[in-house]
Amino acid sequence: MTAPFTLSHARCLDEEDQLKSFRERFVITDPSLIYLDGNSLGRLPVATVKYLDKAIKEQWGDRLIRSWNEGWYQQSMRLGKKIAQIIGARADEVILSDSTSVNLYKLAYGALKLQEGRVDIISDDLNFPSDLYVLQGLVKQFDNKHTLRLLKSSDGISADLTELLRMFSKQTALISLSHVTFKSAYLYDMEKVSELAHMHGALVLWDLSHSVGALPISLKKSNADLAVGSTYKYLNGGPGSPAFLYVRKDLQEKMQNPIQGWFGERNPFDFKLNYRSSSGIRKYLTGTPPVLSVSGLEPALDMVLEAGIGAIRSKSVAQGEYLIQLASKWLYKPGFRLGSPEFNEKRGSHVSLKHAEGFRICKALLDPDVGESVVVPDFREPNNMRFGITPLYTTYEEIFLAMKKLKLIMEEKIYERYPSTRGKVT
Ligand SMILES: *Cc1c(COP(=O)(O)O)cnc(C)c1O
Repeated sequence: MTAPFTLSHARCLDEEDQLKSFRERFVITDPSLIYLDGNSLGRLPVATVKYLDKAIKEQWGDRLIRSWNEGWYQQSMRLGKKIAQIIGARADEVILSDSTSVNLYKLAYGALKLQEGRVDIISDDLNFPSDLYVLQGLVKQFDNKHTLRLLKSSDGISADLTELLRMFSKQTALISLSHVTFKSAYLYDMEKVSELAHMHGALVLWDLSHSVGALPISLKKSNADLAVGSTYKYLNGGPGSPAFLYVRKDLQEKMQNPIQGWFGERNPFDFKLNYRSSSGIRKYLTGTPPVLSVSGLEPALDMVLEAGIGAIRSKSVAQGEYLIQLASKWLYKPGFRLGSPEFNEKRGSHVSLKHAEGFRICKALLDPDVGESVVVPDFREPNNMRFGITPLYTTYEEIFLAMKKLKLIMEEKIYERYPSTRGKVT
């Protein structure tokens, strides 16, 4: 092996990578662009382009309304089965539906109804804001009978399960957490949290948005009650691709869907005037799915299944470790620190680095006139730079070059050239 901390070493690691052949199955128009934001929006698979083109021309263009009988109606369920394999659930427990926020609303509503009399909802201050907004909205909707209690992270990076245990009581209706938190990538121990919740008679609702497609999940093994997750991050489903929801089999009949619409009806095409709920997971649907977006997801899911989630996780851990090694050698001077858990088993698939000038440093990383390549990380308030590792297409060389550019920016204080005004999205 070549000396560590060199470009040739990074290239060696790429050479030995078992998953290296997957990179060329993504559309990469600019090979010099170092894209480390697959945790926000995954790259476009080559297969998706053809597949969608066919769906548009043949299914929509030629078959028109007849396509509903030729696959569209079953599509959300069929792809739900593929996601079930990725998250360790039964085939009849997962379906594509709406957005993550809407699904979270539906399932949290169902859980609170089922747990009537219990008035506490637990979450944490590391959670994605949209999830907290949904829960806050439900508290209002149920006339402020509930209290939303947030576990406070002492370091803004990880959560303390002993503290969490203290928050449970006979009053706890529901605990809703992100499996991997969006800023620090802290990874919750799913089995442990389920165990604590169930010991107290509470239901658990996981948001898998930052873990699905990046690491092995077993909803079955942890006896999870409910889950939702997004498909445009590590699953590469494309902007706004529909989310999924999971309801454990035995809860499907017990819980209600708060938004009854025709797609959750037993037979929407009977056009009966009185709603009869579907049985099984279909019951949690509401309206017409975004058929083309659903189609775009299929080749992407197939690729994740083909690569295998175990292999994806192994590479993600190795690359995360590699990034942290480079960062600690080159960057950890006063002012810079790791914003993610150091231990692999507690970290998802991105690495956050914190610096008070994080925003301007990100601007410099994105600037084509600085260094040799454009690096796309993202910035999350107040001081997190997130570097997303997506093993199907991220190379060691990219990680090396990104950290090298970061080193240059810090050594020469290049970030001082940029204003600190924020854009709308990233
Ligand atoms: C990305 C993400 C969402 C996004 O929700 P949408 O409703 O699909 O926009 C929600 N929760 C978490 C934890 C996320 O990471």
